[in-house]
Amino acid sequence: MIINFAKYIISSPDYTKCPVPDKPEYAFIGRSNVGKSSLINMLCNSEKLAKTSSSPGKTQMLNHFEITSSLSPKEKNEEKAAPVKAAKAMASYTPPVGGDTSKKTWYIVDLPGYGFAKVSQSSRRRWEQMIENYLRKRENLAMVFVLIDSRHSPQKIDLEFMEQLKKWEVPFSIIFTKTDKENQRIVSKNVKDFFSAMKKTWQFLPQYFVTSALKKTGRDKILALIDEMNREAK
Ligand code: GDP
Repeated sequence: MIINFAKYIISSPDYTKCPVPDKPEYAFIGRSNVGKSSLINMLCNSEKLAKTSSSPGKTQMLNHFEITSSLSPKEKNEEKAAPVKAAKAMASYTPPVGGDTSKKTWYIVDLPGYGFAKVSQSSRRRWEQMIENYLRKRENLAMVFVLIDSRHSPQKIDLEFMEQLKKWEVPFSIIFTKTDKENQRIVSKNVKDFFSAMKKTWQFLPQYFVTSALKKTGRDKILALIDEMNREAK
């Protein structure tokens, strides 16, 4: 997938103020400093796209970015060679933008993170209410990506957040971040330990991605999943 265009649209205080839900949407969340802005910028090939949302006043909002993407010439050729996939692509046909039928528009949402040290009970509750409403009620939400810092052993706060997602019946994938910052053996151990911890309360484990914003590791796989989901979206 090629990212043709990515732009910041709006920051909303709750899901009712978000843009019209007419495009598939992908939300990113994790504890503060997990590498969320860097990952969004890496996916979009943009140096400072997600900076907008970390400016004061916007950190507690739902931040929408509109993305326009298309298939690379190589991917288009592969499509032609795969009739079943091509038929599927036709089924989810969207009107061409500038003549390229593989062009899609979709949203990335940068969600306010959890785990800030000095947060009052009341603002924690406000955050939880906003996130719960958004995740349960946003009708075009295709996938939530939960970001986990690959340098750490399993953290209670992340496991607890996933328990919340289970309670709210929200499907999600996991993205392990900053893998270039730690010895690969330790990264693998942390990933393994994370899933061992999840297995205590989860019957099925989610899909996951191992990434580095610095090295662009994991980018193609995440974009391939988004592309697949964009095709399935109504
Ligand atoms: P956010 O608060 O979750 O949006 O986190 P940021 O994207 O601002 O990242 C926090 C810090 O980690 C920054 O100093 C980033 O440069 C650094 N960082 C984020 N991702 C990576 C990565 O993949 N590799 C390296 N080496 N540093 C990263």
